[in-house]
Amino acid sequence: MLRIQQVELEIQRTKDSIQRLQNQAEDILGNMGKIKERRESILKRIEEIKREMKNHRELIEECKRKTKIAEERLNSVRKVEEYKALLREKAKNEDCVIKLTRSLKNLEEELKSLEQEKDSKKVVKELQNLEEELQDIRYSQSRLQDRLAELENILKTLKESTEEDILREYQALKKKYGIPAILPVDSLGACTGCGTKLPSALYSRVISGEVVACPSCGRLLYYEEVT
Ligand SMILES: [Zn+2]
Repeated sequence: MLRIQQVELEIQRTKDSIQRLQNQAEDILGNMGKIKERRESILKRIEEIKREMKNHRELIEECKRKTKIAEERLNSVRKVEEYKALLREKAKNEDCVIKLTRSLKNLEEELKSLEQEKDSKKVVKELQNLEEELQDIRYSQSRLQDRLAELENILKTLKESTEEDILREYQALKKKYGIPAILPVDSLGACTGCGTKLPSALYSRVISGEVVACPSCGRLLYYEEVT
């Protein structure tokens, strides 16, 4: 019975470890996803900026051209109102050139910093590290899966070679207490399940090798020699 419980406990631990590794793997995949997303948004923004810059340059050319036209016409007008209107037109287009040139410069700077981030060795390295970590985890997981299969086989064999009524008793204990339902007494003679100290007569029986039920919680207790 104890052997069955030990194998079942180890199966439980192995499953927990596999689950823990699975959670780690999912965290890593999440981080990798974020890095890739950031990269995609950088590439998209770079394209956008390039389009905007082209647009800016065309508009600047157009404003320059309009400024020049206004300048040329200033020489040939006679009416004061017309002259004033042309001056305003010229100023407006000069202003447009200044503003767009400034904005173009900002776009250039943004583009430069995004290009740097895009080619950053740090990010590439980070992705590589995450990839390696993931591989390690996958490897450990497959090792644990093998161990789990092995344990399940051992358990099967054990159960097959155990008498029917012992198995039934074990199942009943397990159902009542969960595992471990069979526990060693500690060095002070207390149940390691509920902490109750055994009466000395009962403790003597345990020490002599008998398996007894804890008077308080009912779990089975045995004596484990300290090695
Ligand atoms: Zn107890």
